[in-house]
Amino acid sequence: MDRKVVLITGGSRGIGAATAVLAARKGWNVLISYQHQRAAADAVVNQCQQLGAQALAVQADMAEEAQILKLYAALDQQFGRLDALVNNAGVVDTAQTLAEFSMQRLERMFRINTIAAFVCAREAVLRMSTARGGHGGAIVNVSSIAARLGAPRQYVDYAASKGAVDVMTLGLAKEVAAEGIRVNAVRPGLIETDIHASGGQPDRVQRLAPNVPMQRGGTAEEVADAIVWLMSDGSRYTTGSLIEISGGNL
Ligand code: NAP
Repeated sequence: MDRKVVLITGGSRGIGAATAVLAARKGWNVLISYQHQRAAADAVVNQCQQLGAQALAVQADMAEEAQILKLYAALDQQFGRLDALVNNAGVVDTAQTLAEFSMQRLERMFRINTIAAFVCAREAVLRMSTARGGHGGAIVNVSSIAARLGAPRQYVDYAASKGAVDVMTLGLAKEVAAEGIRVNAVRPGLIETDIHASGGQPDRVQRLAPNVPMQRGGTAEEVADAIVWLMSDGSRYTTGSLIEISGGNL
């Protein structure tokens, strides 16, 4: 049987990169997007290819609809099918109170974390829906436990951008359940990736790990395990679920 194809946004580093490599190991072909870090994206593609996958990285800023459409054009041309979408690309910002938020900050946060997830999901549904001639598939949204906790004095905007993704997960799951598409989300807790340094808190995982019931941060690979399960047939009766991957940090 032909290898299935997964599109992972933000696959050059962190959770997206770990998901790409695990998916390749499990027999998927992989298309990843990235924004700036070409060398990191190429390294992920190489790892996937060494595992026997067809793999490709495309530069596409998720804040721009035209670039998302360019990414899907590459998918259609190079792979010709789509079996799973992982809406993973996401950003935080520096720790601020809501009273300090600028319009520019809010627009960036919601364009990348929320609107891009909707646009990518739209393009996936157009290709996967059995009502539109597709073969079905799975969408996995990468949310955050911040959507439960609110992230006060850190980034309430980030938490809200993920809260919207959670609601999209619930609604879209019901909307397309009869069209062969499952839609689920993972809500990671404190995971050891570069995202914390990008928000000006490189020691965030180390600092907050003692508050986690399991008393440690998680790894990108531990989140990838759940994402790849949600992509695959092993989760065939699971849709509309929001799954915490957070060491008990709820
Ligand atoms: P990361 O290590 O900072 O990696 C972010 C990835 O997203 C990179 O591949 C980056 O590409 C890409 N990206 C960022 N902005 C983009 C844009 N505008 N267009 C296209 N790609 C873009 O982050 P991570 O920790 O793996 O986070 C992945 C997801 O998990 C995010 O949605 C995040 O909110 C969520 N999450 C993370 C944690 C955590 O503790 N780490 C917890 C809960 C949820 P470049 O390499 O080119 O920059």
